[in-house]
Amino acid sequence: MNILPPLRMLCRHLRAGAGWGLLLPAAGWAQTDPVSVLGDGGLWAGLALGSGTVLAANAWRWWRRRGEDTSALLQAMLDQSPQFLALITPAGRLVRSNRTAARWLQAASPKRGHRDEALWHHPLWGAAQGQQEPLRLAVAQAAGGRVSRLDLLLKDDGGTPRAMELTVCPVAALPGQPQGHILIEAQDVTARRQTEDKLKLASAVFDQTRDGVLIADPRGIILLANPAFCQITGFEATDLQGQSIQLLSPLIDDTELPRQMRHALTHCGHWQGEVHSLRRTGGFLTAWASLSARRDTQGRPGHVVVILHDITSVRQAEQKLLRRDHFDGLTDLPNRQLLVDRMSQAMSLSKRHHQPLALLFLDVNQLRHVNDNFGHTAGDGILREVAQRLRQSLREVDTVARLGGDEFAVLLPGTSTEGAGQVASKLLERLAEPCQVDGHDFSLTFSIGVTVCPDDADSPEALLRCADTAMYRAKLEGRGRWCTYSADMSHRSARQLQLEAALRLAEERGELQLYYQPQICLHTGRWVGVEALIRWFHPELGLISPAEFIPLAESSGQILSIGAWVMRTAVSQMKQWIEAGQSPGTVAVNLSAAQFRDPGLPELVQRVLSEANLPPACLELELTESVAAHTPEEARAIMDRLHALGVRLSIDDFGTGFSSLSHLKRFPIHTLKIDQSFVRDIGTDPDDRAIVQAIIQMARALRLTTIAEGVETDEQAAFLQSHGCEVVQGYRFCKPLPPDELQTWAQQHARPEHPNFTPVAQPV
Ligand code: C2E
Ligand code: MG
Ligand code: MG
Repeated sequence: MNILPPLRMLCRHLRAGAGWGLLLPAAGWAQTDPVSVLGDGGLWAGLALGSGTVLAANAWRWWRRRGEDTSALLQAMLDQSPQFLALITPAGRLVRSNRTAARWLQAASPKRGHRDEALWHHPLWGAAQGQQEPLRLAVAQAAGGRVSRLDLLLKDDGGTPRAMELTVCPVAALPGQPQGHILIEAQDVTARRQTEDKLKLASAVFDQTRDGVLIADPRGIILLANPAFCQITGFEATDLQGQSIQLLSPLIDDTELPRQMRHALTHCGHWQGEVHSLRRTGGFLTAWASLSARRDTQGRPGHVVVILHDITSVRQAEQKLLRRDHFDGLTDLPNRQLLVDRMSQAMSLSKRHHQPLALLFLDVNQLRHVNDNFGHTAGDGILREVAQRLRQSLREVDTVARLGGDEFAVLLPGTSTEGAGQVASKLLERLAEPCQVDGHDFSLTFSIGVTVCPDDADSPEALLRCADTAMYRAKLEGRGRWCTYSADMSHRSARQLQLEAALRLAEERGELQLYYQPQICLHTGRWVGVEALIRWFHPELGLISPAEFIPLAESSGQILSIGAWVMRTAVSQMKQWIEAGQSPGTVAVNLSAAQFRDPGLPELVQRVLSEANLPPACLELELTESVAAHTPEEARAIMDRLHALGVRLSIDDFGTGFSSLSHLKRFPIHTLKIDQSFVRDIGTDPDDRAIVQAIIQMARALRLTTIAEGVETDEQAAFLQSHGCEVVQGYRFCKPLPPDELQTWAQQHARPEHPNFTPVAQPV
């Protein structure tokens, strides 16, 4: 058989193969005629051997090349990965790394080889402190077959720190290899972490923001509500979740608003505005609400976000400010500004409807005394009580306002002069009822001026001025009165200013004079004393009443010098009477509260007495009741000093102030002077009779002398005498007179019994 063709073919085939190796001699040998060399059997054996060798060599070469190809392929694949991949030995020596890892390692330490050094010592791990040890431990664990996960910070090849999530895991030993390797796979999670951080932040903001946030799905089902939303609205989160957003609508006090919101959301995608609502837990809520409806990429309605900003306290503060501008903080009544506004409106209405409009101007008479003697807390309490009583006594349509200090005004729409007078009487009656404030009982009097629009004035300010003038006149006429305005009163304010200025010069110009009113003992009919009463004769204005100018002197501070003049004059007059053998017994001098509290008073009294060389017992100081009532300890200390000088002390106008019996008991006083307002109506008013009786009895119990003031009739005198009042003073016996006229009067009536009065034996 000719085997050459197939052999040649095989040789050709093998030559065309991958390599020649052992085949080369066979091939070379094949160029000769092998049969001739080996014979048939040898030829086949050689052929088989040669072919086997060639095949084995080629297979090995193929295998090797295939291994090399796979390794390169794998490397290429690994290099494609953006992850950091490094294969190390358990001792940490780097075996292989992908391109990312190689770059980062190289960038972290450009000059070092690191092949022989443990990988955890590489500067790459120095991006943050303390990273090497955890890595070393993780590698040790991987060497023991366990997988570890680590979060480390590495610097990338640009030097930027990256948050990396590392997996350190064992790689099984390859056949023929003595040990396995460790794979460090590090994934850059910087972006993920940043997103997570942002989400955390957003969640914290959602949870912690003070604004309420609610998110509902496109169907209006509530998905989320933050704690602030629950706190603002009073809902529990569980009450809201899964519910329809319509749940909130009934809480809004405007029924139209939810519809408007829906409309705006549908058409504009957002709505914002102020919402007034009830909190679920009670109380009112005012919030600035922003609603927005998101849209998805196709423009379909998406989630609805509701943001509530609680502005309740802001609105309340605004309301308070607004109130403060228009209302009096103490009494909560409208102030002057609001009153003037209302007056303007009421005036135009009354003009249009031809109806009268009345304005009352009301003044609390003794408020200054209350403040001086009981403190401002008591004064404030009285003002509040007055405000309440006024409100209770008037109609809804009437306006009660506090103008400031102790002044109030009452606006009475549709009320004529007669009607206003009736209201004024009613108010005086109601206000005169005793009230208890700050633990003290007060019984105050008021003066009211009455004006009517359009008769008296046609502008608010002018009407107020007229009412003020009328009130002042009412005051002059006595406490607890009302007076209607008349045009001739208008010069009052100007007069007040004029008087204040003129009073400064009155003393040096000799315009002041003392009159004296005798005090008569009802048992003997003799005069036992005189009261010094000041008079001011102005060259143009004529005689000015002390009731008019003493309050001016008190408010301007001139009372101290006027008071000193009164005392000096009265004491020297008394001295003259004594020297003339016509002593009335005592001379009483009125002291106002400012004089009483003046620390120089005892010294003044002593000096005046010693200058005139008058026995102190000849001088009586009349104190108003109120100075004794407040800070009784202080009052007592002053009284003690005066008492120590030997002068007598009396309480004037008793019954109109606020003295308590316990105070009186402790004060070194000699006399109580019953106020003439009680004496005036003794004949007609059983209450006044009872009061006078009680005062006399009380004075007796305290061993005090009683002097009744303002006695004008026999009837009054008889009543007083029958109830044990010892001394009287009044026009029934003698008006206040200048010293020379008093001397004449004394000469005429220097008899044991008063000629015009016979004391009665029986009580009336
Ligand atoms: P007062 O101390 O209570 O004086 C009694 C007042 O009653 C006096 O008024 C007197 O004229 C008046 N009067 C006396 N008898 C009668 C009567 O029968 N009927 C009526 N209706 N009135 C009578 P006057 O002199 O106008 O003094 C008024 C007030 O002015 C005094 O009240 C006193 O509080 C004060 N006052 C007078 N002079 C002085 C003074 O020198 N210093 C001080 N601080 N106040 C004075
Ligand atoms: Mg007096
Ligand atoms: Mg008096």
